[in-house]
Amino acid sequence: MNSFETDFEVIIIGGSYAGLSAATSLGRALRKVLVIDSGKPCNRQTPHSHNFLTRDGETPAAITQIALEQLSMYNTVKLIADTVTNAIAKEDGFRIQTLSGKKYIAKKVLFATGIKDILPDIPGFAECWGISVIHCPYCHGYEVRQQPTGILGNGDGGYEYAKLINNWTKDLTLFTNGASTLSVEQMKTLQSRNINIEESKVREIVHENGYIKGISLENDRIYLINALYNRPAFIQHCDLPGKLGCDLTDAGYINVDGFGRTNIPGVYAAGDSTTPMRAVSMSVALGTAASAFINKDLIDNNYI
Ligand SMILES: Cc1cc2nc3c(=O)[nH]c(=O)nc-3n(C[C@H](O)[C@H](O)[C@H](O)COP(=O)(O)OP(=O)(O)OC[C@H]3O[C@@H](n4cnc5c(N)ncnc54)[C@H](O)[C@@H]3O)c2cc1C
Repeated sequence: MNSFETDFEVIIIGGSYAGLSAATSLGRALRKVLVIDSGKPCNRQTPHSHNFLTRDGETPAAITQIALEQLSMYNTVKLIADTVTNAIAKEDGFRIQTLSGKKYIAKKVLFATGIKDILPDIPGFAECWGISVIHCPYCHGYEVRQQPTGILGNGDGGYEYAKLINNWTKDLTLFTNGASTLSVEQMKTLQSRNINIEESKVREIVHENGYIKGISLENDRIYLINALYNRPAFIQHCDLPGKLGCDLTDAGYINVDGFGRTNIPGVYAAGDSTTPMRAVSMSVALGTAASAFINKDLIDNNYI
């Protein structure tokens, strides 16, 4: 027990947008905060981040750097580079252990750990991810507007995605990567908008340094496209919320209320791990909301 550092009221696991946002609010609320971050934000391969007020087009690292510089003014917050490997709830608080063997204890813990994309096993996909293979038109659609574009998707999800992306480009092909599972009505609707549907299996994403040149299919066709949209499957980046007993939604997000509270008292979550509304702005906002309620709960706990 003595080997646990007890200097902190709140431990934030994950020091990207959600975690740093929460740390800023909590530091300013005079809380003693430790942020532990393993340095693998989900957008690290993307050259430019868009659609975050005042930081449109910055690199992801530059946004983080500004946050870190501003956070360094608050001596209430300590940041360390490490990976949390264990979290156990005890009566005196949450016992947190890291890969480097450090041990900490705190009353509240916030998971701002994000999600991990499970990229399809298609040659060239991983190299293009975040560069020219993109998940979100609000983040990157403007840069490839009106260009020859593909969507890798099928069924209801592929149908909705095609309707959405058609707002940014009229030169659009839906690659179903095997037999289409769209309904006849859905196929007719897309075709009436001149959205091409291609059912051949994908062989390879042809690219130069992550910039897509074309998509090569098993039927030996090659489509020349400049962008490909896909929403990959995902898992939680960190499995510790589940191990602590936090409920997940059917879609795989940590189940929180509007203030980042999970079903486990004292455990909070914010950012991508909790919402399909995947954006830097959302993560920052959710970090702020969670921090306000962590602070409120700490205050309330003192009045018991
Ligand atoms: C390719 C790509 C491009 C994107 N482009 C844009 C864009 O242009 N504009 C926009 O608004 N949004 C964009 N997004 C979405 C945006 O990046 C995310 O919404 C945002 O990064 C989520 O922030 P977060 O803090 O919740 O999680 P993340 O940024 O993913 O950070 C989670 C952090 O937790 C750490 N962590 C995880 N487990 C542990 C552990 N056990 N111990 C310690 N640390 C841990 C990770 O290393 C990481 O640093 C993009 C996403 C992707 C994938």
